[in-house]
Amino acid sequence: MTTAKKNHLFSAFEAAIPALDKALVLHPDGGRETYADALALSARLAHLLVARGVKPGDRVAVQVEKSWTALALYLAAVRAGAVYLPLNTAYTLAEIEYFLSDAEPTVMVARPEVADDMRALATRLGVPHVETLGTDGKGSLTEGAEGLPETFENVPRGPDDLGGILYTSGTTGRAKGAMLSHENLLSNALTLRDYWRFTSNDVLIHALPIFHTHGLFVATNIILLSGASMIFCPKFDAREALSLMPKATSLMGVPTFYTRLLDQPGLTREATAHMRLFVSGSAPLLAETHRAFRERTGQAILERYGMTETGMNTSNPYDGDRRAGTVGFPLPGIDLRVTNPETGAVVGTDEIGMIEVKGPNVFKGYWRMPEKTASEFHDGFFITGDLGKVDGDGYVHIVGRGKDLVITGGFNVYPKEIEGEIDAIPGVLESAVIGLPHKDFGEGVTAVVVRTKGATLTEAEIHKALEERLAKFKQPKRVFFVDELPRNTMGKVQKNVLRETYKDAYQSAA
Ligand code: AMP
Repeated sequence: MTTAKKNHLFSAFEAAIPALDKALVLHPDGGRETYADALALSARLAHLLVARGVKPGDRVAVQVEKSWTALALYLAAVRAGAVYLPLNTAYTLAEIEYFLSDAEPTVMVARPEVADDMRALATRLGVPHVETLGTDGKGSLTEGAEGLPETFENVPRGPDDLGGILYTSGTTGRAKGAMLSHENLLSNALTLRDYWRFTSNDVLIHALPIFHTHGLFVATNIILLSGASMIFCPKFDAREALSLMPKATSLMGVPTFYTRLLDQPGLTREATAHMRLFVSGSAPLLAETHRAFRERTGQAILERYGMTETGMNTSNPYDGDRRAGTVGFPLPGIDLRVTNPETGAVVGTDEIGMIEVKGPNVFKGYWRMPEKTASEFHDGFFITGDLGKVDGDGYVHIVGRGKDLVITGGFNVYPKEIEGEIDAIPGVLESAVIGLPHKDFGEGVTAVVVRTKGATLTEAEIHKALEERLAKFKQPKRVFFVDELPRNTMGKVQKNVLRETYKDAYQSAA
């Protein structure tokens, strides 16, 4: 497919290295990994992947905890010409089964504690190799890479070749693999680097997971392309993040990070004085949070909007007015329009409609779903599924989600999948899953259930039944029982009515 001589994405990473002894990763408790370390470890891991039979275009699936070695594994997969396929660590074995059978990876890298189960699953599905990697960097992956050469001739990959696949949950129940090319990833990260003024002087507090577009493709790719450093925190802890700010320049977070920071009495102007940029995205940032943060620190959080399929689409300006409740302007090189969902016609200023985007950031389609892919494009524009508008000053506003998505703690949950699992529980007639305002998570997954006649099912029994079936973040936080679901004349469940009825469900959850 490609006649390229170089590896499109990795060559750009290499070209941006300011000095080999510069730190790429700083560990929160001290210790550092330099760009030279990153080249050496990723070379050894790339040799191992090739030895395991990974050929250009093969998938390398990875479900491991965040670590420096996991980051090097991402680089190794890119260098080996593979398609990197990270999976949320919360996914259960039942969920992993679908991803492995759909993506057919050559290698699956798993946590040591689930190695036996994963090997059994891989054997059943015909996945040739399972390797292990623990948080401490130990496992069969690094053991196998021990002693392998610290240089590697990068496998040539062109702009259109795939660099990654990220699964997004499907409204129809089936998860879809978003295929992202080298150019999708490179163009978006370069645009953001310049728009947000990242240079090799930056130090990012990296506290996001690296299986999602935000932490992997936005945060790490920007740092690599700036030749900058990042403090790699295994997870977000507000107190720790605050203590790191005097050594850092920037933070990328989901809105929950900011509400948790606001709970810290130590969040002051002085404590944040060394920071030049706070970015928020993946879910709506409340205007109230924006205001409170500014009051305490004097800094305006920069909100941006994007998604797995497109990377980032819009951003509030670096210089200029960062308006609370908006996601700013389309990024350079990206076309954004709002259309009438019924007619497809472009609507006017301030009119709400479907947000559509076009540009080098937009993915190549859903893995092995050509029809689904075709149905999500409209005259070359990707239909995001988000409802929004563009105001008179050109700022984009997201007003709702056409696809009925629930976003909890920055993770997407599609009600249909949860409803399917609940409906399968004996004693359940039907269910509706909605997202309700939750101070900590943004939205809390909530189920409203109708029991079958005579059934005595309890909330606790439903929680128990879902424990093994669904990742923790997808499990309903509360379950309510009703005699029947409210429906409109077309027979559709009126979720807006349910949202109104239960809107205070998490009011006391601080
Ligand atoms: P994901 O594919 O997990 O990144 O989720 C993408 C979805 O998150 C988008 O389609 C939006 O619905 C939502 N989203 C991302 N950023 C924002 C934002 N700043 N404000 C509102 N919704 C957002």
